[in-house]
Amino acid sequence: MAKRIVILGAGESGTGAAILAKKQGFDTFVSDMSAIKDNYKTMLDERGIEWEEKQHTESLILNADEVIKSPGIPNEAPIIVKIKAQGIPIISEIEFAGRYTNAKMICITGSNGKTTTTSLIYHIFKKAGLNVGLAGNIGHSLAYQVAEFNYDYYVIELSSFQLDNMYNFHANIAVLMNITPDHLDRYNHDMQNYVDAKFRIIQNQTNEDAFIFWNEDPIIQKELHKYGIHGHYYPFGEKNAKGMAAYIENEQVHFIEPIAFNMEQEELALTGTHNLFNSMAAGISANLAGIQKECIREALCDFQGVEHRLEKVCRVKGVDYINDSKATNVNSCWYALQSMKTKTILILGGKDKGNDYTEIADLVKEKCTGLIYLGVNNEKLHQFFDGFGLPVADVQSMQDAVDAAYKMAKKGETVLLSPCCASFDLFNSYEDRGEQFKKCVRNL
Ligand code: ADP
Repeated sequence: MAKRIVILGAGESGTGAAILAKKQGFDTFVSDMSAIKDNYKTMLDERGIEWEEKQHTESLILNADEVIKSPGIPNEAPIIVKIKAQGIPIISEIEFAGRYTNAKMICITGSNGKTTTTSLIYHIFKKAGLNVGLAGNIGHSLAYQVAEFNYDYYVIELSSFQLDNMYNFHANIAVLMNITPDHLDRYNHDMQNYVDAKFRIIQNQTNEDAFIFWNEDPIIQKELHKYGIHGHYYPFGEKNAKGMAAYIENEQVHFIEPIAFNMEQEELALTGTHNLFNSMAAGISANLAGIQKECIREALCDFQGVEHRLEKVCRVKGVDYINDSKATNVNSCWYALQSMKTKTILILGGKDKGNDYTEIADLVKEKCTGLIYLGVNNEKLHQFFDGFGLPVADVQSMQDAVDAAYKMAKKGETVLLSPCCASFDLFNSYEDRGEQFKKCVRNL
């Protein structure tokens, strides 16, 4: 009898995993506690894959040989507890998909910068004419692409939740951007659990593989020695040090290995220190894949950026409006503020994940001329920032936030939406929050 694979969660990754499982001849079943979107239902029906929604029928799940869990489902969910009690192995969609391809895997993780760096690497590889797929949290799932296409390379964004259920998967190139506190609610409020999850990106690497990381990150530095790393090191950072694969000197980005070349910092399409890191990580990955330096240079210069990440919306009456809705933690807002070239009205707030705003206090004092608290509960923001003596506004809708910013901002200033928080108190998602911001701004 065919092995039974049960997939929990029928979003992009679950549907992709089901399609691949069916194609590989497994007895495949999909179960989702919420309603399944129509397009995913169609994809499952077209392939004769059984599914259920708004419930988990235990008799159809606990008979599985293996369970593929969507990264959104927490370990404490009752069905997961039961599956574990039965000793049924739980893996992620990426782990599953990795078994059915020999493509080279370029995997990117970190607390911030994942999507930008992943998109940038994909852009360079595409431009170089490589047969490459983009996967992970972006676009189609890896499993779907493994089932339906035949790529030579995959560039994959991996969240810590995806890494949690990866065991034998092997990244040929692993990129670790940084580690700052995030999602601690899902890691027992223990930072070490989260750090360990991130470092899973290098598990199973061999001495033919590469590990690219930000050399100046204190947590990465502290943890490096613990993990018995087998891949070659390719550190990047602002300062030159022994063994660096890329660094900044005289306002130039120096790429060292395997092919050495330089680029003017100001040629880079993406601005701000954080994007220098993203560009360096992407440049090293492309360099390792053997892409010509001319092509890397050109691609780093003409990249269009990613929506909701320091995205310029427009200028209204001499004020620039920037959508950084994806800044869902304090560290990403720090980088956004740091990259501001003018005085700034900052719109922040939302669903707090245990934030400590101390990290941005100095930048707020230095750069901000007004603060707009956008959330159902703004108490913590009042307590932390009101004492700074800046004008503040307390709002519960994007329209009111943009109206308040419009009134506060003077010509030559910037209005920055960089909320430090998740969006779920007032919006469906960070995309929804960013869309609403752009719409309100364009209607000014
Ligand atoms: P992720 O996918 O890890 O959430 P993104 O590329 O979507 O990261 O960027 C999210 C936000 O984080 C951006 O809006 C930006 O403000 C900030 N950011 C981007 N790159 C970095 C980086 N290398 N270090 C710190 N913050 C960053």
